Amino acid sequence: MKSPIIEMPTGQNWSCHGCTDCCRGHLLVAVSAEEKARIERQGWTSADGVDPAKMIVSGLNQHRLGHQPDGACVFLEASGRCRIHAKFGEAAKPLACRLYPLVIYPAGKKLLVGLRFSCPSAGANRGKPLAAQAADIPPLARLALPEDWEKIPPPPVAAEPGLDWPDFLRYSRWLDFTLAAADAPMSLKLLWALHWLSAVERGCLDQIAGEDADEILGALVTSAAQKLPDLPADGGKPSRFGRLFLRLLVLEHAQTATVADRDVRSAYRWKMLAAACRFISSSGRTPALREGLKSVKFADIEKPFGTLPPAAEALLTRYFRVKVQSLQFCGVAFHGRPLIEGFRNLALLYPVIIWLARWLAVSDGRDRLVDADVVKAVTLVDYQFSYAPYLSWRTRLLHQRNDIVRLCGRHAC
Ligand code: SF4
Repeated sequence: MKSPIIEMPTGQNWSCHGCTDCCRGHLLVAVSAEEKARIERQGWTSADGVDPAKMIVSGLNQHRLGHQPDGACVFLEASGRCRIHAKFGEAAKPLACRLYPLVIYPAGKKLLVGLRFSCPSAGANRGKPLAAQAADIPPLARLALPEDWEKIPPPPVAAEPGLDWPDFLRYSRWLDFTLAAADAPMSLKLLWALHWLSAVERGCLDQIAGEDADEILGALVTSAAQKLPDLPADGGKPSRFGRLFLRLLVLEHAQTATVADRDVRSAYRWKMLAAACRFISSSGRTPALREGLKSVKFADIEKPFGTLPPAAEALLTRYFRVKVQSLQFCGVAFHGRPLIEGFRNLALLYPVIIWLARWLAVSDGRDRLVDADVVKAVTLVDYQFSYAPYLSWRTRLLHQRNDIVRLCGRHAC
């Protein structure tokens, strides 16, 4: 592979701080057949603390790392070290472990790098600037991507036929520009982006290309900010369907099934079914779902909470900008979805994050959010991002009812 152009996210720091969350939280760490064979050749025995019969779990066309009874990776030592890393070095680990929480997506002649905010260090913006870490990417990209990655086409902006990469990237650049505005809350910036993307769709402007495209898109972005100078005063009440969908989306993101949960599958299934019934009725109290999410009154979560702390706004800006800059919301990164539909899915995460942050705050006896609530909520949401099946028909129905806009506006905090 010749040296690619690497684009790292701007304004985001990250280094691994060895908290081991990723070795404990992820159920499915896929390994290739080659990685499986390599790990088997490493000769693990019970004397190393690893049961060779359980270190890799194989299913239909898929292998994954096994787990210890408490849900931790089979190779995680009690001290927090990875046994493979400690004994054979970093390069001996499966690619998924070497890459996490970075993600790499091809975009024509460039590689775009993003970050999973399920890693607590990403949410907390701890570590070295990512922009200074581009040199680490090519060796990982060589392992993660097919040789002919430059031939992977962009997804459509709205509908086929799609554009070429340089013209497609004009749309994501204007999206990033919209989200970068310094003097507006994240909820308003999302409304601006949703507004001008809908104008692109309505006016069939998704095929415009060349320098004219920048002129037209720039005018649409300016017009969106002028038409919506502030958040709607009452937030615009979402429909019953919209409110129900949001609660179910919250439930999907609040549950992180551990291996231990899965081992008692029927009890887990009943627990989640009972939780879904409560979330559908939304009267009375939430179930206690996991650490930090206690049984509290739905009414206490759904009342206004005041404005977000500035650091939480900064976190949300980083979160949504990193997703947009790395295209981790459409195309190959997101079930092949077009840019506009993928962005609507992404914007829906905003009300989910705020709802979860409020649940964390109420569980802690507060009626105001603090930064830590939003950091934790972003971590939970991004753990499920791109895995949760909140795609296509539900997003389209919500968009047709204008509920995505109203849910973002309503949960401005
Ligand atoms: S969750 Fe992040 S900081 Fe923690 S061990 Fe994994 S990569 Fe490192």
